[in-house]
Amino acid sequence: MDVIEVRKQFPILDQNVNGKPLVYLDSAATSQKPLKVIEALDDYYRRYNSNVHRGVHTLGTLATDGYEGAREKVRSFVNAKSTEEIIFTRGTTTAINLVASSYGRSTVTEGDEIVITPMEHHSNIIPWQQVAKVTGATLKYLPLQADGSISLDDVENTITDKTKIVAVMQVSNVLGVINPVKEIAAIAHKHGAIMVVDGAQSAPHMKIDVQDIDCDFFAFSGHKMGGPTGIGVLYGKKALLNQMEPIEFGGEMIDFVGLQESTWKELPWKFEGGTPIIAGAIGLGAAIDFLEEVGLDAIANHEHDLAQYAVERMSEIEGMTIYGPKERAGLVTFNIDDVHPHDVATVLDAEGIAVRAGHHCAQPLMKWLEVSATARASFYLYNTKDEIDVLVNGLIKTKEYFGDVFR
Ligand code: PMP
Repeated sequence: MDVIEVRKQFPILDQNVNGKPLVYLDSAATSQKPLKVIEALDDYYRRYNSNVHRGVHTLGTLATDGYEGAREKVRSFVNAKSTEEIIFTRGTTTAINLVASSYGRSTVTEGDEIVITPMEHHSNIIPWQQVAKVTGATLKYLPLQADGSISLDDVENTITDKTKIVAVMQVSNVLGVINPVKEIAAIAHKHGAIMVVDGAQSAPHMKIDVQDIDCDFFAFSGHKMGGPTGIGVLYGKKALLNQMEPIEFGGEMIDFVGLQESTWKELPWKFEGGTPIIAGAIGLGAAIDFLEEVGLDAIANHEHDLAQYAVERMSEIEGMTIYGPKERAGLVTFNIDDVHPHDVATVLDAEGIAVRAGHHCAQPLMKWLEVSATARASFYLYNTKDEIDVLVNGLIKTKEYFGDVFR
């Protein structure tokens, strides 16, 4: 992968911020967008903006072809069996909420268990808390090992015949842990439970094969993989989606509407009430084309190298704590002794470096780490080792600055 060529595809990267060349290290929050995506959105709005699935006019047909063509790209991207299994949502949050509100609330009953982990993003905690509250089920947490990873022995010991749903993130947005979701799914299935995978931090960075994982649901967001905001995906096994009720009712998702009763369209449209996210889906399709042209394996290798290099260089800084296991996805979450992470991010911002500081929507994990907040540098296919050197220099500056203040 030629990172210099890749960078040329991201116009936003070519600018100064606070007088310094932008070093964008916040892709886990949202990624930048390649020209291909920007142009696809522009093309849609300039040339064939129209509503989908209705009417027979030419623009409507083009828009429908674009929207449904994007669904096929997503199907192939995650290796689902059929486009019936690909539901467009607003993002990972909406996708998980759909599973929780529809499948969860109708299937789970009092005394059942839902199993998640303490490293989950709030989007994969709160929907399950709500299901547990409404149904009287118990929300159980898998224990974490010292480095934040999950042991399969613990999975075996936590999931029981009472477990109905297991919901785990494939890659942690804080620790960079890569969870063995395929093995966890097998254990869940042994007990008759379903497996929900939060793929928000994995789908943008590695090859996904939902049939190989054998998960029942897989959720991800377009905006973290070069696509626009406002579009996401829920993959679900057809048999489960067929037995589920929609949670949003109105136009687009109906077959027949009577005065008292109505019937729903077939999959996947019964879950897509209202005018869908047409431009978003088309933009996501373009993002998938772009990622596949570069190659998911090449992207994963590049980010792996960046993360290893970042850990190595950042470990040279005295007073640096890096969270998470040695083998990690492309992000590094850290704290510097005696400096609040918001101050770290503020000093780095003055150097043109964008990192995130806070709880990263993972308050239970912050509690487990015994910190209130951390800073995080996250990488994508357009980042370089030179940028990590700039980050390290910025961190040294941060230390010096606060060292002076405290003296
Ligand atoms: N899960 C994980 C692991 C995430 O990192 C995020 C985004 N930070 C989400 C879920 C939620 O994604 P979205 O805000 O796009 O719905």
